[in-house]
Amino acid sequence: MDSMGPLQNGSSVAIIGGGPGGTACAIALLHQASVLGRTIHVTIYEGKIFAEDTHHNQCAGVVSPPITDILENQLRVSFPFQLVQRKITGYVLHGNRRALVLDGPEDKPSYAMRRNEFDHYMLEQARQVGATIVRGRVTDLEFHADGVHIYSESDYRHVNVVVGAFGLDDGTAAVFSRTTNYAQPRFLQSIVTKFHPPSEFMGPGVCRIHAFLPAAPQIEFGAITPKTNHVTINTAGAHLDTHWMETFLSSSGVHEAIPFPAGADSLDTLHLPYFKGRFPISIARNFYGNRYVLVGDAAGLVRAFKGKGINSACLSGIWAAQCMLRSGISRQAFADDYVNSCHAILIDLPYGKAVRRLVILGSRLGLVDRVIATAEREPALQQALFDAVSGHRNYRDIILDLLHFPLLWRLGRTFVSVPQPAG
Ligand SMILES: Cc1cc2nc3c(=O)[nH]c(=O)nc-3n(C[C@H](O)[C@H](O)[C@H](O)COP(=O)(O)OP(=O)(O)OC[C@H]3O[C@@H](n4cnc5c(N)ncnc54)[C@H](O)[C@@H]3O)c2cc1C
Repeated sequence: MDSMGPLQNGSSVAIIGGGPGGTACAIALLHQASVLGRTIHVTIYEGKIFAEDTHHNQCAGVVSPPITDILENQLRVSFPFQLVQRKITGYVLHGNRRALVLDGPEDKPSYAMRRNEFDHYMLEQARQVGATIVRGRVTDLEFHADGVHIYSESDYRHVNVVVGAFGLDDGTAAVFSRTTNYAQPRFLQSIVTKFHPPSEFMGPGVCRIHAFLPAAPQIEFGAITPKTNHVTINTAGAHLDTHWMETFLSSSGVHEAIPFPAGADSLDTLHLPYFKGRFPISIARNFYGNRYVLVGDAAGLVRAFKGKGINSACLSGIWAAQCMLRSGISRQAFADDYVNSCHAILIDLPYGKAVRRLVILGSRLGLVDRVIATAEREPALQQALFDAVSGHRNYRDIILDLLHFPLLWRLGRTFVSVPQPAG
């Protein structure tokens, strides 16, 4: 058990976390090992029970292109169309007083699902290809020259390599930080709620997500996502709390987008349940090393703004699996192979961060309405906004496309003219 070369017959892998990153990694490991004629043992530890609505990973549950390709072609898992609650074909981007409809191509929709049903489905797919699922949380790790010892609430194992797919779980990040040089990514807080608007609002034609860039400094963005008979509402910000969530929910933009039921004149009468989640906004420090690799949110491997985190988690899980089978499980193997596979995400981060800062500044100065007004006349800017909000293209390409002199000139004029006070 002492080689740190590619995984061989009889090698064992422990994956901490059965979200999209962990399950994609397990499925990819087992498929690719069988193609190579190797038998490896993959264990997924998952502390939550996704069936019967018991536990949730906080999420709006929207999966977007190329998720069908990732599942069907890269993981050989059928896309769970049976779980789709609503097909999403566009967005409505809200400033303070203006809103802009951004519709995408009909043949590249996103799909809104219940996230725990998606997680349950993926965990079941991993089980079917041969992964062992251990119900319970990993509580500690020990790294030794010949392998990793895994302590959990349910069992004890000695494996060749451990994959951290535990999202932004503080407890598990602390275990990794204590036993390796890993440091958790920075993150935004998010509050999520669910609300049943009057049924006439939830007709089959409702196919757009409302995206908000409010001027309130504590709210970086908000979104309303239509599901079958309800909407999921989420906000994000560095220091978000229920007060700011309620400020957002009481705003005129939200009320124009989703009418509250007759008689619900105050939020108190709606008894909305609140849940807290997190979005990573930086790369984790030392997200790989000898005998360990981090994937998905735990590694901070997501777009810097408007994450598309499910896709990134699946992809980084697949790339980690390829590296372990092709190059090995040493720090050097991950640095050469895994990091190279993550290049597309890593190279886009500075661009995404720059866009995020610009958007925050623009919202605070009340300039979003002006950008929307310019986009109403400029198809190139409208396309760029759609690509950014939907996450369909990376920020680098969006910015390069916008570096078109006449458009930049007109946008510049938008920003230098005297801003209106935010209403
Ligand atoms: C409010 C909100 C809305 C979002 N909406 C979307 C969206 O619509 N579309 C999208 O693509 N992305 C969305 N995201 C992002 C997306 O949820 C994440 O990027 C994605 O889930 C990351 O997947 P993961 O596998 O890395 O981690 P997670 O999905 O967080 O999975 C980690 C798993 O590890 C388990 N775990 C943790 N510690 C242990 C332990 N010690 N032992 C055992 N198990 C453990 C947890 O129980 C969990 O199931 C949203 C995020 C938030 C906060």
